Amino acid sequence: MAEHGDNPEKERVLAAILSAFTRAGMRRTRQRSRIAQALARLARKGATFSTEDLWLNLRREDATMGRATVYRAVDLLLEAGVLDRVVLPDGSSTHRVCGGAHHHHVTCTGCNRTVSIDACLPGEVLAAVSRTTEFVIDGHALELYGRCPSCRSMGTDAGV
Ligand SMILES: [Zn+2]
Ligand SMILES: [Zn+2]
Ligand SMILES: [Zn+2]
Repeated sequence: MAEHGDNPEKERVLAAILSAFTRAGMRRTRQRSRIAQALARLARKGATFSTEDLWLNLRREDATMGRATVYRAVDLLLEAGVLDRVVLPDGSSTHRVCGGAHHHHVTCTGCNRTVSIDACLPGEVLAAVSRTTEFVIDGHALELYGRCPSCRSMGTDAGV
């Protein structure tokens, strides 16, 4: 597969990652550049990944890649909002390169494919929760699950 250095989305992701490192006072090392490159590739595929898998993949191209380095970078990028947490149908926690405005995800229960969606909880629902609990609601998480078109076309769907 060809790599296009001028891909604007890839450049945007790389810039977001590298500036998050800089803001956190992390020097721009060769290993952090590799991490950023790997994440930009994952971003293009829209793939979810676990930190452990990311580290194992990176270690294949650089045997000196430290596990703690990768975990620290992922934690930082989660905090910076460059990465999102996605809970898979089996309850395991993965990550996805997203960033940008508030959004949610729908994940396939067959193949774990995850897609970003713009839909959100309606304001009246949040207001009703606030009224009944007397909490001031200042955040929420919402995970949607379903079956993607390719899993449904494999005929495992009973049509419920
Ligand atoms: Zn997201
Ligand atoms: Zn699927
Ligand atoms: Zn929302």
